[in-house]
Amino acid sequence: MLNSSTRRNAPRTILVVEDEPDLATAIAQRISAQGWNARVASDGASAVRAASQLKPDLVIMDIMLPVMDGIEATKRIVAERPVPVLMLTARDAESDKVMGLGAGADDYMTKPFSPRELIARCEALFRRVDRAASIVKNMENEKVLDFGSLVIDPRQRIVTLNGSEVHLTPTEFDLLATLARRPRSVFKREKLLEEVWDWPDASGTRTVDSHVKALRHKLGASTIRTAHGVGYAFEPPEPPAADATSGTGTPMATK
Ligand code: CA
Repeated sequence: MLNSSTRRNAPRTILVVEDEPDLATAIAQRISAQGWNARVASDGASAVRAASQLKPDLVIMDIMLPVMDGIEATKRIVAERPVPVLMLTARDAESDKVMGLGAGADDYMTKPFSPRELIARCEALFRRVDRAASIVKNMENEKVLDFGSLVIDPRQRIVTLNGSEVHLTPTEFDLLATLARRPRSVFKREKLLEEVWDWPDASGTRTVDSHVKALRHKLGASTIRTAHGVGYAFEPPEPPAADATSGTGTPMATK
């Protein structure tokens, strides 16, 4: 195995959680061929432990697992440390459940899938994470989006609703922030897919719908308006505060 002398160039580490040994091995081999590190866990509980120790860059998670299912394992993993999760579902109907339950998955694939598509999805997630990291660096001066009862802090990546923090997945946050930077403007699904997922291909528009559903579940149905046949728009709960600096002593601006 190649060992880079600097941590900066350390290869990506992917945790593969899959209880079918043949499939787990096939996925791990494909990942290694890509130059990434693969680790395999075969049940939900060991996946949670492995994620805690490994701090992987990405988790590929099967849903039907022994000991603890993939949805519960994902919730625990992302609660401890945000990490993109690509979920593997056995049937198409399960994919709705994944998003509906707000498990914290960033993307999902229905079995059976091609290894090529799996790698493409992983690369898209990595690109998005890298871009989000560089955006965060450029965001030092980005203003808090204050809509009264709903406050979005892009720099700290914190959302509060009526004063309580709302836990969003990295993708949900990026989607919300993208929409909320231009309140009431309709974004096409394809545009959101490109901006948020870095996925310039309309085949994933259903992913957008699923994440909107999750955001509505967490923030209230009226937060995101559907423009039928076009896309989505953010609807502020109240008129935005005139000026973030005329604040009432909220601690949002403190470092
Ligand atoms: Ca399984």
